Amino acid sequence: MADPAECTIKVMCRFRPLNSSEVTRGDKYIPKFQGEDSVVIGGKPYVFDRVFQSNTSQEQVYTACAQQIVKDVLGGYNGTIFAYGQTSSGKTHTMEGNLHDTDGMGIIPRIVQDIFNYIYSMDENLEFHIKVNLCLFSKTNLSVHEDKNRVPYVKGCTERFVSSPEEVMDTIDEGKSNRHVAVTNMNEHSSRSHSIFLINVKQENTQTEQKLSGKLYLVDLAGSEKVSKTGAEGAVLDEAKNINKSLSSLGNVISALAEGSTYVPYRDSKMTRILQDSLGGNCRTTIVICCSPSSYNDAETKSTLMFGQRAK
Ligand code: ADP
Ligand code: MG
Repeated sequence: MADPAECTIKVMCRFRPLNSSEVTRGDKYIPKFQGEDSVVIGGKPYVFDRVFQSNTSQEQVYTACAQQIVKDVLGGYNGTIFAYGQTSSGKTHTMEGNLHDTDGMGIIPRIVQDIFNYIYSMDENLEFHIKVNLCLFSKTNLSVHEDKNRVPYVKGCTERFVSSPEEVMDTIDEGKSNRHVAVTNMNEHSSRSHSIFLINVKQENTQTEQKLSGKLYLVDLAGSEKVSKTGAEGAVLDEAKNINKSLSSLGNVISALAEGSTYVPYRDSKMTRILQDSLGGNCRTTIVICCSPSSYNDAETKSTLMFGQRAK
């Protein structure tokens, strides 16, 4: 385990394969990989904790990005895993993947399995309480409140106590179908909002009465593409600007943490307020920046890589 007093931030970079319409259009495959931690685009190298080539399996991504964080959360730490990148770069594939298929499962279902396998392997003196929370986070439905201890929380999320991996998957499926009902009139809505999944693990040793509590935020961020490219207008444009602002405040918070600054601007956005106690202090943070390999997306890919570099 890492030094308990230390905040660790890891930045991983994943390239998806070219998709069929990119191939049909004749797009070029632009990344050139060097070793396990570096990718060259347009002659410029970008170095991360790990770089995953297009053929990397979901299991390999899980092992490198999440396995240690899960151990730490079960040891009482808080953590956050983000997926950042433009729409259709592979964020949801990375975080969720196919929830019900062994090879296709992304980070979230694998985490859920690992947590329950751990619980099942422990002796009976340990009592576990697992709570999950799924929120869709955009300007239109977001309202942040503070409880009596001034801890911020978001109203309108699906929240459940769960006792098996299946119950967690059901909660996710349910949260997603609610989301579809609520947003049918808004084009591409899911790419313009953040999806935040929280797993809260509380343990109590019934003999020693020792308690441990850890929480893990799993965040599938809204698409990071520039507003101007999307041709949005009116309310949709306002929402898009708001999303871009929240992504840039997240970038500012993470680079302040990475630099060890004494001032971290958590209060600049609602999302960073919510995540505050899982980003700073003795927390574990992993950012997976997701990239398209296509020459067509060259500019967005470079901007995604730059976001990742700021966190290092
Ligand atoms: P985003 O959530 O960033 O908008 P998605 O995760 O939905 O993007 O990915 C867009 C499409 O590309 C989906 O059909 C997804 O299955 C596919 N895809 C993404 N990443 C990979 C990958 N690493 N390997 C294979 N297919 C992928
Ligand atoms: Mg998505």
